[in-house]
Amino acid sequence: MLNIVLFGPPGAGKGTQSEKLIAKYQLVHLSTGDILRSEIGRGTKLGLEAKKLMDQGVLVPDEVVIGMIESKVDANKNAKGFIFDGFPRTTAQAEALDKLLKTKETGISMMLALEVDNEELIKRLLNRGKDSGRADDQNRGVIQKRITEYNNKTAPLKDYYMKQNKFSGIKGVGSVEEIFTSLAETIDKSHK
Ligand code: AMP
Repeated sequence: MLNIVLFGPPGAGKGTQSEKLIAKYQLVHLSTGDILRSEIGRGTKLGLEAKKLMDQGVLVPDEVVIGMIESKVDANKNAKGFIFDGFPRTTAQAEALDKLLKTKETGISMMLALEVDNEELIKRLLNRGKDSGRADDQNRGVIQKRITEYNNKTAPLKDYYMKQNKFSGIKGVGSVEEIFTSLAETIDKSHK
């Protein structure tokens, strides 16, 4: 299997690049942010609770997202592989993911990290907020909080995957095509 963790701060381009990667490599896209937004859209209890945290720009509890990922992995037994987008975001989530994949006799193939500076991120998120209507993309304070959460809780995962020799940093600035080419080259080099 080809199991990719697509990593990077909010606004790095994970969603855009995931769409292109799933088309090229026939992978199943698992975005915890998308799953949470669909729960909110359906007005479930989980969605209502998550919304309060998401609107503040803070992470939802580990157990919640880990449970969601477990059921989605189970529901896609014949997948060629997965792109994990916006997950894991904490060390506890990364450990839970390793454990889960091990029970399926597979594991994470690589972490691809899109690297974009803060100023560019804020600019992109505010722009996206105008089109997407996402409440958490429309407020500078919430955007800043999400970046702070990323730096405190998520950025340490770089070391987690580096220790396993699975980390690759990719320049996340340029055209969508250029960035996609870098990602695909990195995948093809390590996954023949
Ligand atoms: P995203 O669409 O990935 O930017 O996520 C939007 C929001 O959903 C985040 O700011 C968090 O509140 C929540 N969220 C998404 N994925 C996770 C995760 N893996 N762990 C905790 N919270 C998450």
